[in-house]
Amino acid sequence: MKARLFIETYGCQMNFADSEILASILQPQYDLVPDYSQADLILVNTCSIREHAEQRVFNRLKEFSALKKKRPGMKLGLVGCMAERLKDDLLRSELSIDLVVGPDAYRSLPRLLSEVEAGQKGIDVLLSEEETYQDIPPVRLGSNNISAFISIMRGCQNYCAYCVVPYTRGKERSRDARTIVEEAESLFRQGYREVTLLGQNVNSYKAGELDFAGLMRQVASISPLLRVRFSTSHPKDLSDELISVMAEYPNICKAIHLPVQSGSSAMLKKMNRKYDRDWYLERIRAIRAAMPDCGISTDIIAGFCGETEEDHRETLSLMREVGYDSAFMFKYSERPGTFASRHYPDDVPEEVKLRRLNEIIALQQELSQESNRRDVGKVFEILVEGESKKKTSQATGAPQYFGRTSQNKVVVFDNGILPDGSMVHKVGDYLQLKVLSCSPATLFGEVLSPQA
Ligand code: SF4
Repeated sequence: MKARLFIETYGCQMNFADSEILASILQPQYDLVPDYSQADLILVNTCSIREHAEQRVFNRLKEFSALKKKRPGMKLGLVGCMAERLKDDLLRSELSIDLVVGPDAYRSLPRLLSEVEAGQKGIDVLLSEEETYQDIPPVRLGSNNISAFISIMRGCQNYCAYCVVPYTRGKERSRDARTIVEEAESLFRQGYREVTLLGQNVNSYKAGELDFAGLMRQVASISPLLRVRFSTSHPKDLSDELISVMAEYPNICKAIHLPVQSGSSAMLKKMNRKYDRDWYLERIRAIRAAMPDCGISTDIIAGFCGETEEDHRETLSLMREVGYDSAFMFKYSERPGTFASRHYPDDVPEEVKLRRLNEIIALQQELSQESNRRDVGKVFEILVEGESKKKTSQATGAPQYFGRTSQNKVVVFDNGILPDGSMVHKVGDYLQLKVLSCSPATLFGEVLSPQA
């Protein structure tokens, strides 16, 4: 009988994709369980991007360490970015951690687990210049069997001044295109209808002569019924060719997450983002010219080192100029070891950071609401993803369903019930929906006709 494995994942989509690799590597010895209290091995896949994220993990590790006292045979492992960053400190701490494994060392897990069984600590945090796990078929942990992540490259060497990723995930390396296309084809054959190509800096993908635009063309050509998304892109690598491939293929989703971080050219220079405000806005104009209906989202940092009120106002004015559909917004949090932590004082007072962040959030709420209002009355094709957890139909009392538009907006709708009790529209169907109303976060629509 196999032992039981529980994986808890924090952070970005890359980490969720990595957990699927971890599950695959350990599959010969472990069955996944949904409840940690039953597990023989708990792996916590961690994120170092913000101090808050690390603190959440520490609190969770304390809980798991307490559980270990009651279940002495249970093993506890910490993997991912925090393993890379904190290594020895973690093994020395009062937490009872058996394994510390960095993001490029997952293949060594079976060996490290044998060492743990022999009474030693298992540690491997070596970064690699080649590892992409391209030969390991992920165990899909997503629940809907319709959308899947495909990790196409790893690492980052942009060294944005505030960011710890180049230190925790190492240099950029891309997977062989053939393995990516085969993975997408296999998913499509299994009934998946959407793939998201993932990388820390996905649009700097390069395998021989093939760039990211060329790869997108190959994946989008698998079937018009397979939607293709990607995340996260860097503005400096958003080429005209990529924009034109996106416009050309109807099944490449019209949604770009393009982190701007600040609207001030002075801040962008200090952040080492390698573009300025004008350049970013020119890329936005190029996207809008080719795809007027493209959804655009972003990441913004409030209160980076030396940020003035004028810099902050430039961020707000850029947000208005772009009219983002949605955004992830954070206060600057200094990460040890980064360029900023070594060279710039973290000098914006906490209350000023918080006030600026609140202004950014309030503006984005307005922009998101406006963006949703503009969609009322329009018709969209959606891919049905599942039952809505919160909404029930006023007509039937049954749970409503939801799907996503190409622009990555959630639309909730009433699903019909057939005489045998099954639903008229199934998960994985494409539907034409007319949007009737909206809240700041969600669109509500009615089905016009099934498509395919
Ligand atoms: S592009 Fe910049 S922010 Fe993104 S992972 Fe690389 S260093 Fe970090």
